[in-house]
Amino acid sequence: MGDKRFWESKHLKEMSEEEWESLCDGCGKCCLIKLEDIDSGNVFYSNVGCKLINEDTCQCNNYPQRRELVSDCVRLTPADIDNFHWLPSTCAYRLLAENKPLEWWHPLVSGESDSVHRAGMSIKGRFIPEQNVHPDDFQEHIITWVD
Ligand code: SF4
Ligand code: SF4
Repeated sequence: MGDKRFWESKHLKEMSEEEWESLCDGCGKCCLIKLEDIDSGNVFYSNVGCKLINEDTCQCNNYPQRRELVSDCVRLTPADIDNFHWLPSTCAYRLLAENKPLEWWHPLVSGESDSVHRAGMSIKGRFIPEQNVHPDDFQEHIITWVD
């Protein structure tokens, strides 16, 4: 094992719940409204943020009850690793599932919780709250910067 850190020495399926949760870099990208092409299955991200996301921290305002309050909120679990392709390419879960290293700005690597924001890798200041956009207009808000 040497000096390897847990995400470098363990498979995603071997991690404790605490380790698993700590992998989230807090970018907030997966909390943007997504549109799926029903024919191709392709997922498109919009710059519209879920109604529960905090504009300052990019964290969920009610993480414990998120799935009761937002029906399509997705809970990431080790059992779904093979389906993480819909996540942003910068997402730690997707990176590790694809055997790639975490980026320098990931809080676990940098040791600083706000490094994801300072590196410009989060949605901070880049999204519109869901409450301010009519659902019929989501398609006009499709973006590419989370890819
Ligand atoms: S995209 Fe990944 S790293 Fe970013 S908030 Fe979602 S789960 Fe966390
Ligand atoms: S309910 Fe919370 S965790 Fe789920 S998508 Fe919305 S902000 Fe993100």
